[in-house]
Amino acid sequence: MRKLVIDLNAVAENLATMRNLNGTSKKVMGVVKANAYGHGMIEVSRRLEIEGVDYLGVADVQEALALRAAAIKTRILAWLHDPSDDFEAAIAAGIDLGISNLEQLARVAGAAAKVGSPARVHLKVDTGLGRNGATLAHWPALVHQALLEVKAGRVVAIGCFSHLSSTNANEDRKQIERFSRALEEASAAGLDFELRHLTASDGSLSYQDAHFDMIRVGIALYGLSPFSDNRAADFGLKPAMCAESVVVQTKRVSAGEGVSYGYLHRTAAETTLALIPIGYAEGLPRNATGTAQVCISNKFYKVLSRVAMDQFVIDVGDDAIVPGDRVVIFGDCGPTADDLANACDTINYEIVTRMGGRFERVYLGKATELAN
Ligand SMILES: *Cc1c(COP(=O)(O)O)cnc(C)c1O
Repeated sequence: MRKLVIDLNAVAENLATMRNLNGTSKKVMGVVKANAYGHGMIEVSRRLEIEGVDYLGVADVQEALALRAAAIKTRILAWLHDPSDDFEAAIAAGIDLGISNLEQLARVAGAAAKVGSPARVHLKVDTGLGRNGATLAHWPALVHQALLEVKAGRVVAIGCFSHLSSTNANEDRKQIERFSRALEEASAAGLDFELRHLTASDGSLSYQDAHFDMIRVGIALYGLSPFSDNRAADFGLKPAMCAESVVVQTKRVSAGEGVSYGYLHRTAAETTLALIPIGYAEGLPRNATGTAQVCISNKFYKVLSRVAMDQFVIDVGDDAIVPGDRVVIFGDCGPTADDLANACDTINYEIVTRMGGRFERVYLGKATELAN
């Protein structure tokens, strides 16, 4: 009664769209962290692998190990590490590690020595986001130490990367400039990389001269725009997630009845109330109350009463709605993830990523079905 319908064919098309931006064929890292932004990490990754994605990107080693445990063979990069993370397991599983500082470099080199094979690393430079990565002041020391580890056979320097703040074009351009400078410095010191990568979905769409060797694409793979203006279709992107449910009960009530916690809605006239079994446990934000809309048989209804943990109620007037009718929360013919995001004062990324709870994921275009 609660389904996230995930269209993996749309994900495959979006991959092709991003791969062929401005008519060139480029390397793409499909970013599948956070359960593939709520779309299901394993199924999305299996399909991306069939589509020949060049890399998979995850935040941490645990996510990367889960991909390997599911027999994913594609190269994987993980970049957000806890000081207690198991780099030995990561190296043994052939996972590339993003390395942001000397402490991580020492730890990864030690782990490589124990495992008996070199660690595949991507050095991360902080060009101005202020999250992980070495600042330009610390960059020469990181490069110098990495060179020593490369010579000692404990490290293979595969890549160099950074991440934009998406503040505005002026700030992003400064970061692109700093990234180029960091690459030049490393090269002058004798360290060159197979893969230099900087842009995520937004930068990949905005700065087509800054793709370097690979782009890292998350939200665009899922068919959503990285910009807050609902422009996915303009880029040829197709949303991959539809969140849907069914009406589980209807009832006629008279005028003046209070509905759901706090009586934020009172019926204006005799009307029908329809109960839908989706709540904030499923990731529907509680502050969708009073602003979001859902769709039943191509008609939109505002969620006027309080969204609860398990359910919400809509007032459907005299419409002939019955238990079992399909309710689209977003996607397909209903509101878009952007519409729901706007209603909840957040972004489409958060909407799809937070979908979970008791939703069941149902896939179109599963890799295993394509193979048969
Ligand atoms: C999440 C993430 C991405 C993907 O970002 P999108 O905006 O979803 O394309 C790329 N690179 C890094 C470092 C990230 O953390």
